[in-house]
Amino acid sequence: MIKRNTGFSNLTAGYLFPEIARRRREYAASHPEAKIISLGIGNTTEPLSKHIAQAMSDYALGLATPEGYSGYGDEQGNTELRQRIAEVFYPNMADASEVFISDGAKCDIARIQTLFGRDVKVAVQDPAYPVYVDGSVVVGAAGANNGTGYEGITYLPCTEDNDFFPDLSKVEKDTLIYFCSPNNPTGATATREQLQKLVDFANANGCIIIYDAAYFAFIRDPSLPKTIFEIPGAKTCAIEVNSFSKPVGFTGVRLGWSIVPNELKFADGSSVNKDWNRVMTTLFNGASNIVQAGGLAALDEQGLKDMKEEVDYYLENGKLIKATLDGENFKKLGVQAYFTGNGPYVWAKFPGKKSWEVFDAILDKCHVVTTPGSGFGPAGESFIRFSSFGHRADIEEACTRLSKLEL
Ligand code: PLP
Repeated sequence: MIKRNTGFSNLTAGYLFPEIARRRREYAASHPEAKIISLGIGNTTEPLSKHIAQAMSDYALGLATPEGYSGYGDEQGNTELRQRIAEVFYPNMADASEVFISDGAKCDIARIQTLFGRDVKVAVQDPAYPVYVDGSVVVGAAGANNGTGYEGITYLPCTEDNDFFPDLSKVEKDTLIYFCSPNNPTGATATREQLQKLVDFANANGCIIIYDAAYFAFIRDPSLPKTIFEIPGAKTCAIEVNSFSKPVGFTGVRLGWSIVPNELKFADGSSVNKDWNRVMTTLFNGASNIVQAGGLAALDEQGLKDMKEEVDYYLENGKLIKATLDGENFKKLGVQAYFTGNGPYVWAKFPGKKSWEVFDAILDKCHVVTTPGSGFGPAGESFIRFSSFGHRADIEEACTRLSKLEL
């Protein structure tokens, strides 16, 4: 018989979000009266912009006509969309040949892991979006979990003590560094100085940064960089993955992009951009043409206005959650909440408690689903992530219930 990929047997418990869904289902089955509200996963809730939906609908109807029909497109993406992304988000920072359109940032992260293979060393912020570690384990770039983390992964704690920016001195030479800003789950958004430090470190030590900017659209502080390519030197050491999911509610529609600079090289001097082109043409067949029409509409004047409004709505939700967690009740519990106003997550520490214990208590007493911080890495223990993706009425109701929480 065929042997199981050891990467899968090395993975410990299930992926975090299905586990949360399982606990929620079990709770709902035994408490049918509970009206459960989710502040759990980072799933968008607000309807698409009509302007963007119309563009997709028009394109889809066009496909039913001889003039409008098209089959496979370029695997790297529609040329016009590649150009538009370069112009709108990376002026003087990247050109269309460095933009690759995809079905989302998570899918790109998985494909990036095939680009670097099993022999690469990996470092991650701790806590981090689980796909960086779990995907590395699946491809064999990390080994089994020894109880404190997966072998072969360098965990870089990001805590209140270091202002949620890691100590890079622990990172070995020639390491692939996953870095997410605005961060999921902590919400921390790296400053220009912090990113310069990261880029200088990577260039000096032969490292490549996989910069996940999926929440760039939430950055409201004009002094904070929205892309790693605002930082001098980034083009020789960074790949950026990005997404339409959170800015325009494309979590179900699916559209993302990556930026792989022409200057970026492997140790043997060969081009990373060329190999990425090979990955995209060999393992991917292009994003949906209907969805790419929606992506183009998202980047015109109306689309960008709609994007800002949608993100503002979620940011306002975040402020409500933060205000609740700063309230008297949480002060009594010793809770410290972090919300930067530049990302969708509120990250809260419950001193002396285990994350899953707090998760279960909030579900049981408030009928609110959250995300346990420990699911994002060892340094997330005792934290809970509150997501600001939700309808306003649900957020308000959840805040009312949370303000009465007793532990
Ligand atoms: N990157 C981060 C940090 C995320 O939090 C998420 C989704 O929650 C993604 C990527 C996934 O993006 P996409 O929907 O484009 O696959």
